[in-house]
Amino acid sequence: MDNVDVLVVGAGATGLMLANELAIAGVSVVVIDREAGRLRHSKALALQPRTAEVFDLRGLIDGARDRSLASVNGHFGGLPVPLAYEGWSTRYPYMVAITQSETEALLEERAAANGVAVRREHELTVLAQDEEGVTATMRTPQGEQRVRGRYLVGCDGGRSVVRKLLGVNFPGTPAVRYSVAADVLLQETGAEPANQWGALAKMFGQRNASGQSVALLPLGEPNFYRLSYTDPSISAETRDIPVPKERLEEVLQSQYGETARIAEVQWVSSFGDASRQAERYRVERVLLAGDAAHIHLPAGGQGLNLGVQDAMNLGWKLAADVKGWAPDGLLDTYESERHPVAAQVLENTRVQSLFFYPAADERMEAMRELFTTLMALPDVNRHLAGLVSGLGVRYPMEGEQHDLLGARLPDIELTASDTPQRTSVLLRTGKGLLLTEDDRHAATAKPWAERVDVVRTSRLSVSGTVVDALLVRPDGYICWARTARSTTPTQSAPVQNALADSLHRWFGHPEH
Ligand SMILES: Cc1cc2nc3c(=O)[nH]c(=O)nc-3n(C[C@H](O)[C@H](O)[C@H](O)COP(=O)(O)OP(=O)(O)OC[C@H]3O[C@@H](n4cnc5c(N)ncnc54)[C@H](O)[C@@H]3O)c2cc1C
Repeated sequence: MDNVDVLVVGAGATGLMLANELAIAGVSVVVIDREAGRLRHSKALALQPRTAEVFDLRGLIDGARDRSLASVNGHFGGLPVPLAYEGWSTRYPYMVAITQSETEALLEERAAANGVAVRREHELTVLAQDEEGVTATMRTPQGEQRVRGRYLVGCDGGRSVVRKLLGVNFPGTPAVRYSVAADVLLQETGAEPANQWGALAKMFGQRNASGQSVALLPLGEPNFYRLSYTDPSISAETRDIPVPKERLEEVLQSQYGETARIAEVQWVSSFGDASRQAERYRVERVLLAGDAAHIHLPAGGQGLNLGVQDAMNLGWKLAADVKGWAPDGLLDTYESERHPVAAQVLENTRVQSLFFYPAADERMEAMRELFTTLMALPDVNRHLAGLVSGLGVRYPMEGEQHDLLGARLPDIELTASDTPQRTSVLLRTGKGLLLTEDDRHAATAKPWAERVDVVRTSRLSVSGTVVDALLVRPDGYICWARTARSTTPTQSAPVQNALADSLHRWFGHPEH
């Protein structure tokens, strides 16, 4: 039986991102997936701005942009006012349109470069855990196999076997409304629908004569499109019946006219607006991440992004535990930080579903009008953009309070530092980062040199807040910040204590 530090179940975006985070921290990891290869079809079609930032933190963003189809504005429920991200101080004030299969390919290539093995046709069937580890039993073409890990993480999607084997409840609301997604090759008619990426909000808001939202997005190859539409005729009983080509064409033509014809259907799937969240993300040595922990309507494109960010939050904490330096309770902050974030996404997608699906109640039209007016207000738009993009995520943290505590560090050009660099590039080591020009701070952090890099830089402006020193976690969130009001020596001891407190809280005891 193989022994490994962490066994990751599921080679989707969540599992691959997590594997990469563990690998750069020097933890041995094996990823298993029941499928023989990556699926060719793509569920998700976009990365949110925060995911683009996170990819930048790991040197993945150029690869994503090379494979991307377009840069687009986000939308909320298909209402006609696009989400504006500029108010969030981001280098990526747009969504990166990219197929999920390309995102997964990028992450899997990185995993291979990091020496992570993905074992395909390995389906988890049983798990048993004790105080020291977890034994997983898998069905493979070579027969039953077992792997022993110190931890196991279920990144095995919405129907997670890991979650079921743990007996973790998955409360929420069942699907009541359904949509269809289909990847289709259109016949050459000389009248191709225009490139719709530029008008995402408008497109998701448009309705055909039957009141259905019908969207068509080009997937990068000639005549290849994602057709997506709401369908009130689908129910829980009929959702697994394959949608015939004739029906797809009928809906396509209802929006784009009779010249739009389908030559071939490459993939079709019906999906509902079920909204559920695992009650717990951890049972002893087994954790859940991504769709295994939460499902919701894919409104605004948030699911894959949530999973990638779960992985980013969990990876360094789990690695710290495996390496033996995690401070007490660090691993539990994964659930306490990420559960509320997913709960909020469930909430905003439930609201969006009201706008997407044809209203049974005619007062919904008034609601749409009012919400559209509200979205034109910059503060409201910024708030919604922060919710959907992930840029607004802020983790509650203990310790010395500061306006920036718990917020993400946007990418900043350190022109006045001793190494002129972007902060996102500095964080690519997967270690923590202390930005300061104060020798006393650098001296305080010295015992943590293996876990925290110190970079000298002068006073910074971070999202409009002036700051003299910052401590940043490996996942890019600020866990201590200091704005000096005066530099009298009497303040020095408390300042160093607050910094040392935060170093202990997030990076453990330096001797361990
Ligand atoms: C139509 C549609 C459009 C979407 N659009 C977007 C979008 O634009 N943006 C966005 O962010 N999200 C979108 N989503 C949601 C997104 O696709 C999911 O949130 C995302 O796939 C979750 O990734 P994951 O890695 O957590 O799980 P998954 O992608 O489901 O991966 C789970 C993996 O686990 C494997 N597995 C399952 N069980 C086992 C087992 N027992 N043993 C071994 N392996 C197993 C599976 O084979 C799979 O590879 C969309 C979803 C749909 C349906």
